[in-house]
Amino acid sequence: MIDVRIAIVGGGMAGASAACLIAEEAGSGADIVVLERESQPGYHTTGRSAAMYTEVYGNDVIRALVRAGRGFMESPAERYADHPLLTPRGALMVANTGEAERLDAFMEEMQRPDVLSRVDAAHCKEICPALRQDQLSGGVHEPLAMDIDVHGMLQGFVRVFRGLGGRIIGDAAVTAIERGGDGFRIGTTAGEVRAEIVINAAGAWGDDLATMAGATPVGLVPKRRTAITFDPAAGTDVSTWPLTFELGGGWYFKPDAGRILASPADETPSAPCDAQPDEMDIAICVDRIQNATDLQVRRLASSWAGLRCFVDDHSPVNGFDDAVEGFYWLVGQGGYGIKTSPAMGRIAAAQIAGKPVPADILDQGLSIDSLSVNRFRGENG
Ligand SMILES: Cc1cc2nc3c(=O)[nH]c(=O)nc-3n(C[C@H](O)[C@H](O)[C@H](O)COP(=O)(O)OP(=O)(O)OC[C@H]3O[C@@H](n4cnc5c(N)ncnc54)[C@H](O)[C@@H]3O)c2cc1C
Repeated sequence: MIDVRIAIVGGGMAGASAACLIAEEAGSGADIVVLERESQPGYHTTGRSAAMYTEVYGNDVIRALVRAGRGFMESPAERYADHPLLTPRGALMVANTGEAERLDAFMEEMQRPDVLSRVDAAHCKEICPALRQDQLSGGVHEPLAMDIDVHGMLQGFVRVFRGLGGRIIGDAAVTAIERGGDGFRIGTTAGEVRAEIVINAAGAWGDDLATMAGATPVGLVPKRRTAITFDPAAGTDVSTWPLTFELGGGWYFKPDAGRILASPADETPSAPCDAQPDEMDIAICVDRIQNATDLQVRRLASSWAGLRCFVDDHSPVNGFDDAVEGFYWLVGQGGYGIKTSPAMGRIAAAQIAGKPVPADILDQGLSIDSLSVNRFRGENG
């Protein structure tokens, strides 16, 4: 039997970042264990992302969390990584012919003239030569969008956590949680664990885990998103192309290690599972990319799917449960859970240590109430 202060369920980016940052706050990881069903951290959604950092995606809560984490990823302390976790990529949000109002609406919603500029269709083609200019009404350019080294970031959190004496137990599926007077008894396939605090970083399984612990679910909906990679035409150097994203939400693509990574930006509700790509979604992706660009998908190099998990208002849930003492939520990261993880992990570390949320995070205009589980517990909750 393992007896610890904190058991974190889930070894994706959410669980790993929280483990590491809580251990750093406490000065030791010896009293923390991460329980992961798979044999390795990062197997589910974390290992299936598009690895993008952009400050103009998601609602204002997401965007505040993202800005708050930029410094961590841009110049990580040496113990996390010996290189920046962000590298320049740029992003180009485009609108189809006849849909120019999407560009105005996007500029209006984001309110970021400091990082965004409107570009006409010809300029879009210069920035991303694969685009078919006649299909475009124009675009919005975000030159400062970045690629994230997701693997390096996850491994950095894991390494620092282990260095502080923290344990990550793989092949440890949590199957039962019982709240007693002295804390939680957690049944896992690798044996029993006792803990004062349980952190729910179970990704798509977040509501299932909460139910096990006797907490009221928050209405988490996993949504499947598909990705493919393929080779560009021989001799085409795609390395300087940006992430190119259709503002109507029909497709996006970006360079990925000499290849093209593309997605139909699908959002199909799914039960929590080891998500697999659907043949129809792959076909839709190929069709949309070939219509919007002069790229030809001759053969897929790879395809996969991952679950982006949302609650109703599309903000994450980051905080203690209102009814089950010691049960901490860290779920609902949607399509933003890599780039929000440094800020969300720091919020968890502060709250679990009983300290105020760091001022630099709040200074981004974030209200902690917008992350709290209490927002689901109103009259209708
Ligand atoms: C196609 C795609 C593109 C994306 N692009 C981006 C992007 O560009 N930028 C960005 O920031 N984000 C992106 N995301 C979103 C990002 O990947 C997720 O928000 C993030 O990975 C969520 O991390 P997590 O740790 O919450 O979930 P996960 O990585 O899924 O981890 C949850 C873990 O909990 C474990 N678990 C669950 N239940 C139990 C249990 N009972 N016992 C033990 N273990 C359990 C699971 O095995 C799993 O490993 C993208 C996602 C997809 C699918």
